[in-house]
Amino acid sequence: MKKIQMVDLKGQYQGIKKQVNDSLQEVLEDTSFINGPQVHAFQKELEDYLQVRNVIPCANGTDALQIAMMGLGLKPGDEVITADFTFAATVEVIALLQLTPVLVDVDPETFNIDPEEIKKAITPKTKAIVPVHLFGQVANMDAIMEIAKEHDLYVIEDNAQAIGADFHSKSGETMKAGTIGHVAATSFFPSKNLGCYGDGGAIFTNNDELAHTIRGIVNHGMYERYHHDVVGVNSRLDSFQAAVLRAKLPNLDKYNEARKAAAAKYNEAFKGQENIETPVQTGDSSTHVYHQYTLKIKNGKRDALAKHLQEKGIPFGIYYPIPLHLQKAYADDRYNEADFEVTNQLVKEVISLPMHTELDDDQIDHISKTIIHFLNN
Ligand SMILES: *Cc1c(COP(=O)(O)O)cnc(C)c1O
Repeated sequence: MKKIQMVDLKGQYQGIKKQVNDSLQEVLEDTSFINGPQVHAFQKELEDYLQVRNVIPCANGTDALQIAMMGLGLKPGDEVITADFTFAATVEVIALLQLTPVLVDVDPETFNIDPEEIKKAITPKTKAIVPVHLFGQVANMDAIMEIAKEHDLYVIEDNAQAIGADFHSKSGETMKAGTIGHVAATSFFPSKNLGCYGDGGAIFTNNDELAHTIRGIVNHGMYERYHHDVVGVNSRLDSFQAAVLRAKLPNLDKYNEARKAAAAKYNEAFKGQENIETPVQTGDSSTHVYHQYTLKIKNGKRDALAKHLQEKGIPFGIYYPIPLHLQKAYADDRYNEADFEVTNQLVKEVISLPMHTELDDDQIDHISKTIIHFLNN
């Protein structure tokens, strides 16, 4: 059996070596390391793939979130509602911009922000909602867009974990994750479903005016050379990263299919296990591209299982071990423990198993048997 890894970037590279090497070689030959033709080409190719009017590449996913919020003109004191159960980047940029983060609880089955909790959290100061398509599954965007419309709020999708996922709206339209709200942010961190070989990110929007504003913000607030109209940032995707992404984008659907197939095999292996809840995919509205394959381990057995996997040399992740409202940086007297029942429980139960494009049947078999054997003895 091949050595089991959480993410197998080496194995994936072997399959696309020539495309990646040729693409990188092109950058070396033309030496436009910043804003080179590869960046522009990748932007167009991604717009095409997502069927979105504007992709604005930037330096990483965290910047993408921050720049999206800057582009919308959110002001200090504006309240932004997001999920308590997510990676800290989402709430970090809200706080950095001196906006007020409002964390709310999530759905126990999908781990995504609960639209009912969003409704309860809305005040006259609320300006935006940031749904995170956690672990690769699109949040309940029909409900979220409806709430946003009713209360005149912006929706900023954190699409760092769900690139390539489809969302089938109630209206019958199928849209790619990250093209449903007013603006979206994504990350090309190497382990993401579409990852480069360093840092990278992008902002998507169908609003041309907002896209224009954002293109200035990523470039020091410049719309005309050396005329700085707004306070911006320096956030660029470099040409080498764009070159890698150009080589990988044509494989994204195939990669996501490989993840789905691995998830289906895990699901089959864990069927009927009383201590295990396999990931729930909601109805037929959203596809799941399994950025993570995350189990809930019941009856207080998660930590012992984690220890066992460590001893057996099987990698795993606990995403996320601490709710954001309990993190020192984001704790606030405004919050009540009773309002975070689901997240407080999830942090004790979740465990993410190896999930990547190169997982084979032997590995899945070995991982699932090790887990089942431990939990039943
Ligand atoms: C990875 C990730 C980010 C941040 O992306 P970086 O490129 O690492 O800055 C933001 N939100 C979520 C949900 C993520 O998973």
